[in-house]
Amino acid sequence: MSDFTLRLTNTLTRQLEPVEPTQTTADGMPLLRVYGCGPTVYSYAHIGNFRSFLTTDLLLRTARALGWQTRYVSNVTDVGHLTGDDLADADGEDKMAKALEREGERFANIYDLARHYTDALLYDWEVLNLLEPDVRPRATEHVTGQIEAVQQLIDAGHAYETDDGVYFHVPSFRDYGKLSGNRDAESLATGAAGESREVVTDDAKRDPRDFALWKKDPGHLMQWYSPFTEGEAGGRGFPGWHIECSVMARHYLGENIDVHTGGEDLIFPHHECEIAQAESLSDQPFARVWLHTRFLQVEGERMAKSSGNFFTVRDLVEDKGFDPLAVRYALISGQYRKPFNFTEANLKSAAKHIARLRHIEETLIPQAASREGDLDPAFEETLDTAYAGALAGLCDDLNTPRALAAMTEGVKAIYSRDLNAATASSVQVFLDRINDLLGIVRSDDAGSPEADPLAAQVEALLVERAEVRAAKDWTRADAIRDELDALGVEVMDGSEGTTWRKKTGA
Ligand code: AMP
Ligand code: ZN
Repeated sequence: MSDFTLRLTNTLTRQLEPVEPTQTTADGMPLLRVYGCGPTVYSYAHIGNFRSFLTTDLLLRTARALGWQTRYVSNVTDVGHLTGDDLADADGEDKMAKALEREGERFANIYDLARHYTDALLYDWEVLNLLEPDVRPRATEHVTGQIEAVQQLIDAGHAYETDDGVYFHVPSFRDYGKLSGNRDAESLATGAAGESREVVTDDAKRDPRDFALWKKDPGHLMQWYSPFTEGEAGGRGFPGWHIECSVMARHYLGENIDVHTGGEDLIFPHHECEIAQAESLSDQPFARVWLHTRFLQVEGERMAKSSGNFFTVRDLVEDKGFDPLAVRYALISGQYRKPFNFTEANLKSAAKHIARLRHIEETLIPQAASREGDLDPAFEETLDTAYAGALAGLCDDLNTPRALAAMTEGVKAIYSRDLNAATASSVQVFLDRINDLLGIVRSDDAGSPEADPLAAQVEALLVERAEVRAAKDWTRADAIRDELDALGVEVMDGSEGTTWRKKTGA
């Protein structure tokens, strides 16, 4: 096998396996189809969540470096994830509704809360330089598809209705337990991470392992009408958490996908239940490879708000002033499948690496532009070897420590010489390739308002302009026009909305 054969540890087979796309695009390119479980948007995503999202990000970057196309779907869970979902039963309160209770008047309603934390997620996602998924479906936008899937499972004899909801009947799916090893009712008492669980039993359920596909609840803050109308609660209710991912993955990626990702806590019950649902619907293997990220700890402990070691991206970037790329570097400095201890010392060391990369790109390369000299094939080869080492590291089960060590060899070689215009161009090629692979040299989204101070200022003025115009405050509107004029910006109001451009010569 070559150094550039992608190999991943597949939770399903417990083996390190070569991974290749099973489909091609219309123009014959290998196409890797990936589904990554996204967050429940009831609070800000923390750095542990992002460690899991970064695993998927590195998988996609590696695939692209190998010349493959990718199709990446990552959902937003905005309904149905219950506090008791760590059991298979779907018991407890909806995490979203509980958050609304906790946060009181801060949000007008539950949709407002979902929107706020989804926006925050998208912002932090971009700050950490994660590739944007091709589709980011929200569970609430796919309830019809979920109801249809639940009905099909009932029709096929895999699910049954009770007065409280609709349950998937676990004994109807022979392979239940193949991912986690939790095959019998007793093993439900132990979770994937070995902690003990309290098994809730419900008289209406036919088997303790059966899990909810639909919960009847006419009092729920988010509710939809369904054909599941038996009992006093009637048809109104909301879908279970597990069904959303099966339905959205199948909808956007097809019946059998290449890689399905998530944190280790999702192995059981979430992913076990996803498999049961999807494979009962299609009679085909759902995902070929299951990739699970071990949990992040902070300073050797489980992250908990009460221990003061719970961090969001914004805590580290906005409050503590760390470079976002240093946070990214620190989060990927341990391999995904090993437990990872995030420390302040490791963040500081990451910041030094990022500062060096930025210094090369922002100072050393521009300074070398006026220095004449020849290309140096040996130096170019050193950099090529460093890049190849980084890619080989990622191909080796996303071994990020190996990839970062190879990258650092390249950086050392760059610092050990005086660059001229020709050798600086070799360095630029190296940085661009490293950035595509690891996303740690610069933010990919150079065109965003955050990355362009003029754009940020103009966008803010245009928002205010629309507001003051609506309020017929013509004095302020005129002042804003003058400010835009002073910035050398031309504003065009058209039927499609307002656009702007820099005036020529400005
Ligand atoms: P949630 O918002 O709880 O649904 O989690 C979103 C993703 O983050 C899931 O893939 C979880 O498995 C993952 N996750 C949660 N906590 C951690 C952690 N401490 N370390 C790594 N991944 C985590
Ligand atoms: Zn999921």
